[in-house]
Amino acid sequence: MISKELLHDKFRGAILGCFLGDAFGSGFEGMNPEKARFHMDNLDSPSVHHFVSKKFPRSYTDDTDMTLAVVESIIQSSGVSPENIAKQFSLYCDLTRGYAIGAIKSVLALRAGMKWYEVARIVFENGSFGNGAAMRVSPVGLFYHHDLDSLQEAAIQQANITHVHPLGQWGAVMQACSVALAVNQNPKESFKKEEAIIHLREVLWCGPIEYIKALNKIEEMLAQGKKLQAREVVQSLGNGVEAHFSVPTACYIAMNYSPDFCDAIRAAISLGGDTDTIAGMVGAIVGAHVGEKGLPVEWIEQLEDGPRGLSFARDLADRLFETWWKIHQTS
Ligand SMILES: [Mg+2]
Repeated sequence: MISKELLHDKFRGAILGCFLGDAFGSGFEGMNPEKARFHMDNLDSPSVHHFVSKKFPRSYTDDTDMTLAVVESIIQSSGVSPENIAKQFSLYCDLTRGYAIGAIKSVLALRAGMKWYEVARIVFENGSFGNGAAMRVSPVGLFYHHDLDSLQEAAIQQANITHVHPLGQWGAVMQACSVALAVNQNPKESFKKEEAIIHLREVLWCGPIEYIKALNKIEEMLAQGKKLQAREVVQSLGNGVEAHFSVPTACYIAMNYSPDFCDAIRAAISLGGDTDTIAGMVGAIVGAHVGEKGLPVEWIEQLEDGPRGLSFARDLADRLFETWWKIHQTS
């Protein structure tokens, strides 16, 4: 049984962990693994790319922007309401923060008055299988960490605003489930990987076969008992913007490196590719495992703290926890 204080800290850890992974990862987007590793190892050198080395304070991108909107919505609705989440996206998404063109079109359609259930097919007729629904889903993992059946339904509902392709939807389920499993882990111990794989398989079995295949690969890779080279991880699981080529990758890195938050984020960034989203997803999972107390203070101090920055994010995490606690304390 997790104490109230620890559970509260884990809510903060997941939200700030996403923020950290996103903010630190965003300077490396699109690099190959070798280049990403070089820049990661030489952050303080004047010779590295200025976007990486001189980006202070470290600002967040669409991943954190949408995550915070989902948190606000869950607080307002005491659960997942796609209609309300769409309203928060319409009100608060800052489209200057590195949004993909599909997401920009979706938010603009919402602002123009289109219904939330009409938006997802305006950009991709058959639905998007990008990782956009997974990158913002960590609050769903937190809020439903006690009930994986409800979590599965809620993760798909929140995905449906922009991602109706099963790969996009179930990528969100896998990420939310990983966050939930991390909440239930002891922060003083390493991640119980075998147990987590069993739970993930139970939740994902009725989704697309791609996620079951990815789970099988993760199981094999973890069984090797060593930390694989970035190239090997990318070849096996991917580092792209597609949900099925990035969510399993984030789960593998998080399970393999947690509870060491900094090592996990470095490993995620070293993969190159969609670094902000993969590192953001890793950050949310590891943050849910270790709580804010397990996050690096010297990294947190580098985060932007404007109107919707660090203090705002921490306050939202607190309110999300209070909302959860009020419901479950009395039931
Ligand atoms: Mg981003």
